[in-house]
Amino acid sequence: MKIQITLTCPQCKSTNIVKNGKKTKKQNYLCNACSRQFIGDHALSYKGAHSNTITLMMRMLVRGCGIRDISDILNISLSKVLKTLEKQQVVLQPKHSFYDKLEIDEFWTYVGKKRHKLRLIYAYHRASGEIVAWVFGKRNTNTVRELWYKIKALGIKWGGLLTDNWKRFKRAFSDTHHVIGKEGTKGIEGNNCRLSHRIRRAFRQTCCFSKKMENHIKAFELAFYYINYGHS
Ligand SMILES: [Zn+2]
Repeated sequence: MKIQITLTCPQCKSTNIVKNGKKTKKQNYLCNACSRQFIGDHALSYKGAHSNTITLMMRMLVRGCGIRDISDILNISLSKVLKTLEKQQVVLQPKHSFYDKLEIDEFWTYVGKKRHKLRLIYAYHRASGEIVAWVFGKRNTNTVRELWYKIKALGIKWGGLLTDNWKRFKRAFSDTHHVIGKEGTKGIEGNNCRLSHRIRRAFRQTCCFSKKMENHIKAFELAFYYINYGHS
């Protein structure tokens, strides 16, 4: 009996793979497309390293499961789940060059303890459901300005920026077409609700919160990635 297994690169999904010697008696492979070295899933003895398990872990992370739930359900160590989150390097590119309206709003989160509040301020495109730019910081003009610089640095164009009437928005967006009013930010408010259901660290009225700032930001960015690229 001959069994054939098609190998795909865990990083770029290419099938342009060659053998690359043995590591701890297991066949090692090299991806010609991105130079990633890996051991095939079929040869792995530790199921936590299996690419399907990692995909599943990430989907659970962006679907409201906490680190401890994932560890318990998948029978994988807590540190492996945390490491999977820590390893994520999410880079989001704008999907369009022009956005008719970008809604901007704030969303509170906290890290370490409940009184240590951290604001997420972000730009959202209602028609496509895309999170275009974001910053985390204090609830002040500097954080809003930081978002403003990020939006400008993306090289995109927009028809108008829609916000509520918080005075910091007025100050930061004075040199662009800025529309103020609750009517214009209904899309982003709906998305705030989505975030508070999808990200365990953002659940309301519970004792869930992040201990580490880095993991906090990574958990949000991972959720943004899944929302933007259609896996939500
Ligand atoms: Zn690759």
